[in-house]
Amino acid sequence: MTRLAGKTALITGAARGIGLAFAKAYVAEGARVTIADIDINRARAAAEEIGAAALAVEMDVTDQNSIDVAIARTADQFGPIDILINNAAIFTAAPIVEIDRGEYQRVFDINVAGTLFTLQAVARHMIDNKVRGHIINMASQAGRRGEPLVAVYCASKAAIISLTQSAGLNLIEHGINVNAIAPGVVDGEHWDGVDAFFAKHESKAPGQKKREVAASVPFGRMGQAEDLTGMAVFLASDEARYIVAQTYNVDGGNWMS
Ligand code: NAD
Repeated sequence: MTRLAGKTALITGAARGIGLAFAKAYVAEGARVTIADIDINRARAAAEEIGAAALAVEMDVTDQNSIDVAIARTADQFGPIDILINNAAIFTAAPIVEIDRGEYQRVFDINVAGTLFTLQAVARHMIDNKVRGHIINMASQAGRRGEPLVAVYCASKAAIISLTQSAGLNLIEHGINVNAIAPGVVDGEHWDGVDAFFAKHESKAPGQKKREVAASVPFGRMGQAEDLTGMAVFLASDEARYIVAQTYNVDGGNWMS
């Protein structure tokens, strides 16, 4: 288990959920990982659990100075960054006629601008340090097709798929591979908010939306964060060197259903 031996990774939004599972998987493969998150208390707890190969850094992906500090602290602690996962994002839902401009802006600032400007800063860092790196963006099935009450989040994830294509084609000349993962439905705290929204807007009992979604996945259950780690390790490894600007579904067949 040393496919990422000696590599340095920066993972945004890694204090919990999918990002935390990625951090653990990368350390198990020999990498050193910065757990960068706006929730510094949970980031610290996660890093303590993982041990010396993990560093917790407070980072807000909407703040350029915060992005630059996270990169500098990672490089100081572990050396130049080889791998970035743009994982931090927030979910939102509302009927079209109720979408609030401020909420739209907040989601696009975090999910889209946060991904773009973290990717930009890390790409510059990789070029300056002559690192042939890997950048992985977190997309979603929500970026592949619309959902009636989820327009803003869906549009933000469609932007991630498009951004991955453009950045991937642009940065490969520097030896930087940019690709994305599109999960389907993955269990975790993220779902507390989703379930609460649908309980309110579709008069569903608590937990009902989650059960319905789980039953619709061809694989037979919701994803677990650990179902995604194989793809995240592969896309960060030299085995993925000829893969450029792609978005991979890891969704238990959800996309096809
Ligand atoms: P999560 O909500 O459990 O975790 C997101 C993390 O991002 C949190 O630790 C949060 O503190 C952090 N964060 C929020 N705003 C931030 C900011 N401005 N700067 C830095 N960190 C910030 O999410 P998750 O379910 O683990 O999802 C991880 C990724 O996978 C996201 O990009 C999400 O859109 C995507 N995804 C999730 C699912 C799912 O069903 N859970 C499905 C498809 C795609």
